[in-house]
Order: sequence, then structure tokens, then C-alpha cells
Amino acid sequence: VLRQPLEDGVVTVSRVHGSARYPCRFMLAAAMNPCKCGYLGHPTRECTCTPSAVEQYRRRISGPLLDRIDLHVEAMPVEYEALAAETGGESSAAIRARVTAARKVQQARCKDLPGVRCNAQLPGAALRRYCRMTPSAEKILRAAFERLGYSARAYDRILRVARTIADLDGSEQLDAAHLSEALQYRTLDRKMMR
Ligand SMILES: [Zn+2]
Repeated sequence: VLRQPLEDGVVTVSRVHGSARYPCRFMLAAAMNPCKCGYLGHPTRECTCTPSAVEQYRRRISGPLLDRIDLHVEAMPVEYEALAAETGGESSAAIRARVTAARKVQQARCKDLPGVRCNAQLPGAALRRYCRMTPSAEKILRAAFERLGYSARAYDRILRVARTIADLDGSEQLDAAHLSEALQYRTLDRKMMR
């Protein structure tokens, strides 16, 4: 059910007396456990699942849906000391300023494309035009595709994420670091396709 809205930004509702299309651009955030018992990869507790049980559990999310999720992030449990400590991290205000600047770059890039306001909405041809890569970046992307057999859809989605990482970095060209980071966000593909 989520596939069409995730891909096209519209949803079609069909009933006996006809069908209607509605605009439906949204951000999907979802969470899952690493395995059935929940402890796979845990620093101190042991996972009791067999490898085939882990695989079976992960197969509950379909490949085509996973393909459309751009950022996979593994969240490790947080130790009490880290929770209780004063955080010295970057402030939300500073991050917001960086995101706003990257959004402005994207709006300028998309100004001649109707209905497109950010990298996530760039159609394929425009995406390739705006994603010039350094030779080392291209090499990393090629190697990842040959090794992991990503789909054409995943290719476009990885480029869009890399474009955004480069925008946050204030860089016109996509370099090796931008591509490597974008590929790192596809950890579930790697685990499912090993
Ligand atoms: Zn487990």
C-alpha cells in the first residue's frame, strides 16, 4: 500500500463507484528490531535467534519497500552514563541553519522544474545532470553496485542522498566521502543480500 505514495507522491483510492487521486508527499519513519529476540548486535546481551530465524524475521519487510527507504540507521542501546552526562553535541539551532542553507541550494537548483523543490523530488534525467561525480566517487559507487547488485531505483535514491550530503557540505561535485556516506545508509540491503 505504501509503495505508490512513496514512489509517486500520490495515492489512488479505488471504490466501486470510481477512483480518486490525492496528493500524498510525506516522510516515512519506521523502526524494527534487528531480530526476533531484539538483541542481535547488542554489546552485552546475547541474541538467542538462529541465523535462519534472523533471516526469516528480516524477510518480513519486503525488498521493494526496503528499496524505497533511503536512510537505514542502526541505533545501539544508550548506556546510563551517556544519558546522564551533559551532552556536548551540536545544537539544534546550528543544525537547522545548515539544513536551511542546503534547502536554499536545492530550491535554486530546481527553480525551472515544475513541482520539484528538493533533491528527493528530482526526476532521473535532472538527477544525473546535477550529480557530477569525481572519478573516485564514481569508482566507489560502481564497486558497491557490482558487489551488492542494487536495483536501478536504489541507484537513483543513493544519488539523491549523496547530492543532499554534498549540499550540506557546500560542495558542487559529489566526492568519495559523499558517496561513501550515502552507501552507509543502506545497511539493511547489505544484510539482506549477503
Ligand atoms: Zn535475536
